Amino acid sequence: MKLILLGAPGAGKGTVAKLLTKMDGSVQISTGDILRGAVAAGTELGKQAEAAMKAGDLVSDDLIMGIMKDRLQEDDCKNGYLLDGFPRTIPQAEALKKLLADMGEELDFVVNIDVPRDVILDRLTTRRTCEDCGAIYNVKSNPTKVEGVCDACGGKVVQRDDETEEAISNRLDVYNEKTAPLADFYEKEGMLLTVSATSSDAVIDAIKEKLGK
Ligand code: AMP
Repeated sequence: MKLILLGAPGAGKGTVAKLLTKMDGSVQISTGDILRGAVAAGTELGKQAEAAMKAGDLVSDDLIMGIMKDRLQEDDCKNGYLLDGFPRTIPQAEALKKLLADMGEELDFVVNIDVPRDVILDRLTTRRTCEDCGAIYNVKSNPTKVEGVCDACGGKVVQRDDETEEAISNRLDVYNEKTAPLADFYEKEGMLLTVSATSSDAVIDAIKEKLGK
């Protein structure tokens, strides 16, 4: 399957994407994970993205499109992909549309995961992430077996730099201003499936139904 997962930070895009990859071999492509990897490795890309990420701002559309143009042409995309955290602005959505047309590819549809703001705030402040494999935990609802150690890979589980209260509040404002308009964009394209649900299973069920699976 080829899907875009839209939704505010903390809506559950990453969790849903990870579950969907188990269904048919589609790969999760998270621009946030790619950028965090580049920051950790100290690459030129990481240096360019780091300050914006830490403040909860978006990195430039050009930088993101450069990453995605290469990423979507990699071999593992042949079985499908789940775009998690991309596109995040109207210019990115337009550039993606052109890129896919040039590649002769079509998306199945766009899933907009709609979760109330109070749930999002609670999730983001209690969320913890594995620095190595990106596994997501929650100190309240899904803690690691050993504090600070990833159950899946043994990596260090931390609170992300952009999950301080100030950065979270900025990320939600940026989302409302720059990313929320994408729902209208894809509605007009006739591609939008909005799911109002706080459980990832409910989101997966709605996606399966739409895919006819
Ligand atoms: P995420 O893990 O998706 O919440 O992304 C973490 C941070 O990476 C965001 O707050 C942005 O600074 C940056 N980022 C990730 N994806 C994008 C994108 N598509 N466009 C611009 N910035 C992005």
